[in-house]
Amino acid sequence: MSSSASTAAGGGRHGGTVNGGISHWFADDGLPAVREPLTGDASADVVIVGGGYTGLWTAYYLKKAAPALRITVLEQKFCGYGASGRNGGWLYNGVAGRDRYARLHGREAAVRLQRAMNDTVDEVIRVAAEEGIDADLHKGGVLEVARTPAQLARLKDFHAHELSYGEQDRELYGARETAARIRVADAVGSTWTPHGARLNPAKLVKGLAGAVAALGVTIHEATPVTEIRPRRALTPYGTVSAPYVLRCTEGFTASLKGQRRTWLPMNSSMIATEPLTGAQWEELGWDGREALGDMAHAYMYAQRTADDRIALGGRGVPYRFGSRTDNDGGTRPETVRDLRDILTGFFPSLAGLRVAHAWSGVLGVPRDWCATVTLDPSRGLGWAGGYVGSGVATANLAARTLADLVRLDSGQAGPTELTGLPWTGHKVRKWEPEPLRWLGVQGMYATYRTADRREALTHSARSSRLARVADRVAGRH
Ligand SMILES: Cc1cc2nc3c(=O)[nH]c(=O)nc-3n(C[C@H](O)[C@H](O)[C@H](O)COP(=O)(O)OP(=O)(O)OC[C@H]3O[C@@H](n4cnc5c(N)ncnc54)[C@H](O)[C@@H]3O)c2cc1C
Repeated sequence: MSSSASTAAGGGRHGGTVNGGISHWFADDGLPAVREPLTGDASADVVIVGGGYTGLWTAYYLKKAAPALRITVLEQKFCGYGASGRNGGWLYNGVAGRDRYARLHGREAAVRLQRAMNDTVDEVIRVAAEEGIDADLHKGGVLEVARTPAQLARLKDFHAHELSYGEQDRELYGARETAARIRVADAVGSTWTPHGARLNPAKLVKGLAGAVAALGVTIHEATPVTEIRPRRALTPYGTVSAPYVLRCTEGFTASLKGQRRTWLPMNSSMIATEPLTGAQWEELGWDGREALGDMAHAYMYAQRTADDRIALGGRGVPYRFGSRTDNDGGTRPETVRDLRDILTGFFPSLAGLRVAHAWSGVLGVPRDWCATVTLDPSRGLGWAGGYVGSGVATANLAARTLADLVRLDSGQAGPTELTGLPWTGHKVRKWEPEPLRWLGVQGMYATYRTADRREALTHSARSSRLARVADRVAGRH
């Protein structure tokens, strides 16, 4: 261990709100000490670029399966610096691209993917318990609410659609049943799935990094990889050579040489309030600590934290020109205000509540919005990601799949259920060059916001056509 990460993460302060500083989760739990960087050329059996959930879970499962493997993780800052240390803490069974995979590979294949995702929620909980990682996990499911007639129509479609993928334990609630769980203003209905848990993302990623290091995986932090070549990862401090190089860089992928248009770095921003009082919680309900979301086009996601705050997120500035990524989580004041407005729209009685912290992070969006796991045997290159907004559980399934692909290719094991999942080896075209990329994404999110406003104003039960057009232009459907 060497220097502390705290220099990277002071965070500004505005009206009593800490802005940036990586995330509330790290502010709360403490930033980790940074592990030693690489100090010259090295070799390994597998080198993993990126110390988020994807990279760390891949290292974990590979090392568990083959303890003799020499695995090196190279992380540009510190493990959890990316979305894995900043997210909304929804560990849930959503996976980006399922419907497209159903169209490409058949319904049965997509149902297998969905079942694997359902099981993944429990797998993360299982390993956390086994490894003694206290990540404030609480399996209260996910409650998604509708607050306008158009949202209610979408909610009912969504519910039926999920049932068609075999999720028979998903429920549909009316206004009264919704209020019995969480009293959200204007809620007219909701759907609840048991396949979800809330967690503290930074505690999970810190615990996972510790577990992986304890297994004997080498982790070099403060070590940016500038380029990935077949069987080599290049850094300013030396090159690590290995038969397999696995790219697990998600929203930061564009910063690697040759990858600028691979996955678009999309921003998501969050706020965490100060802790609510017992009386405030009594008014809101939320005793089941469900992950809470809505059916707006520019959707929100929230959780009741272990220390009784509300952490709530949504789209901030969705995308920065030229695929620029990060500034340690700094967030525009307008975005903080927008998120606060969502909070008080949901819970008007919290109008006086202080926002303690605001931050942002980047997630990776492929051109067709489909999460993928790939190993190219001829070059020894693998990658997993493109989870869009649902990577907390998906990264675990993707990592197990990537680990199985490496073991299959190296002759250590045969094909598994996971290597046969429909997202394996999926190919997607690159994003458009600038300025088309920037214009497209800005336009899409402006359109979603307009569509949400229109639906709220007109009280129409039909989803705005605008949003459907934006979906098509963006390549989402
Ligand atoms: C604000 C926010 C809220 C979210 N909320 C949720 C949620 O509630 N539920 C959900 O399912 N998903 C959510 N997500 C998405 C989820 O967090 C991510 O999909 C998931 O964490 C991705 O993990 P990862 O390891 O693939 O990527 P990351 O966590 O981004 O890890 C990539 C790592 O690679 C490192 N890296 C990048 N480039 C290099 C390089 N060149 N050299 C060395 N290291 C490099 C980075 O520093 C980083 O640590 C959210 C994302 C954000 C930003």
